[in-house]
Amino acid sequence: MTSGRIVIVGAGQGGLQAAVCLRQEGYLGPITLIGSENHLPYQRPPLSKAYLKTGQADSLRLRPLSFFNDQNITLLLGNAVTNIDPATQQVAHCSGTLVYDHLILAMGTRNLRPDIPGLEHALDLRTLDDAERLRLAMIDAHSVAVIGGGFIGLEFAAVARGLGLQVTVAEAAPRLMARVVSPQMSEHFLKLHRAMGTTIMLNASVSQVNAKGIVACGSTVKADLVVLAAGVRPNTELAQQAGLAIDNGVRTNAHLLTSDPAISAIGDCAAFPDPATGRLVRLESVQATTDHARLIARRLTKGSSDKYTSVPWFWSDQAENKLQIAGFATPGDVAIMRADGAVFCFEGDYLSAVETVNDPRTHMQARQLLVGGARPTRDILDNQGYEISPIQR
Ligand SMILES: Cc1cc2nc3c(=O)[nH]c(=O)nc-3n(C[C@H](O)[C@H](O)[C@H](O)COP(=O)(O)OP(=O)(O)OC[C@H]3O[C@@H](n4cnc5c(N)ncnc54)[C@H](O)[C@@H]3O)c2cc1C
Repeated sequence: MTSGRIVIVGAGQGGLQAAVCLRQEGYLGPITLIGSENHLPYQRPPLSKAYLKTGQADSLRLRPLSFFNDQNITLLLGNAVTNIDPATQQVAHCSGTLVYDHLILAMGTRNLRPDIPGLEHALDLRTLDDAERLRLAMIDAHSVAVIGGGFIGLEFAAVARGLGLQVTVAEAAPRLMARVVSPQMSEHFLKLHRAMGTTIMLNASVSQVNAKGIVACGSTVKADLVVLAAGVRPNTELAQQAGLAIDNGVRTNAHLLTSDPAISAIGDCAAFPDPATGRLVRLESVQATTDHARLIARRLTKGSSDKYTSVPWFWSDQAENKLQIAGFATPGDVAIMRADGAVFCFEGDYLSAVETVNDPRTHMQARQLLVGGARPTRDILDNQGYEISPIQR
């Protein structure tokens, strides 16, 4: 396919990257990138980190406006797609319709809004507009309560504490970042945040938000500002209405094709088979999103039949601590901590992930080790004292 009409829904990290990769691969046909936000495509990771301190929106931008003209990519911003009709291969948006030969869904996620009375008093942290609202609100605030002790809640907490605010994090689970890291790493970050002066409440479901703060475990935590960071939901409704298979995301095969061969899905909204286990996974990471875009562009432009085999990796910056994860562990995996603090996670006998803090060398070695879905056994790593470099795959 070198000349058909490609429409990309969602002008975030994945949508932009797909358009960029298509042109880089030599795609000549018309490309339309359509997004519901009013901003040029931008990076989200700094929203919970540097941006809250600097407010520099220009540095988040992934490409200048001139790029879209130069590359002949039609960019429609502030324009939500409202319907997909696979039979006629058309999408409807706020101001018209578009016909496609291939459609790429890059609709990302939205914040999960638990059913808590008064939640309208809490601010979100998902979009550039959210982050700007939060940044301005922090200028006059002295105290902040964060609902959720996952990556985003803790990154925000570290920034707020660094700015001198009193910070309380209420986490419903018994440990921090429980969905994504081992118990040992949760404990490590619990100590770090407490050492920074943040109050961390665990097993603490928030039952109410009001103008004075939050109520968690029956007690009131006073806060000038409440931030919601309780997880996300993939934006799948449009795909579902169009009859596509959904399974905690828009379901794809290993080529990132949905149940309709004229529609691909990418990034945070896509559920795809993990190359190591075949399990359907949905990752919220820039790396997976970018690699998805590359694979789809090669398929559409060169007819490549490659399967998605990239090693997943994640990072989170919390004050001076860079947490990096290579691979993909699930909460039941067994975790073993090396003397220097690196954590090795195993699903049964097989390595699933390696977690490190401020240790880029071990992180890179782990990524090499897990290339192509490889899964070294616990015996091998045990015999090597959990040193990665001497292992021959
Ligand atoms: C605060 C924050 C911090 C993060 N930190 C990290 C990090 O440290 N490391 C990391 O790897 N990842 C991080 N992430 C996750 C990372 O940003 C995402 O994995 C990445 O943005 C996913 O790209 P995407 O294109 O799938 O979705 P997004 O970038 O979210 O883009 C989706 C876009 O689609 C638009 N859209 C949705 N529905 C429609 C519709 N019907 N019509 C038109 N447009 C639509 C949305 O408005 C949005 O602009 C962070 C995310 C946030 C919010």
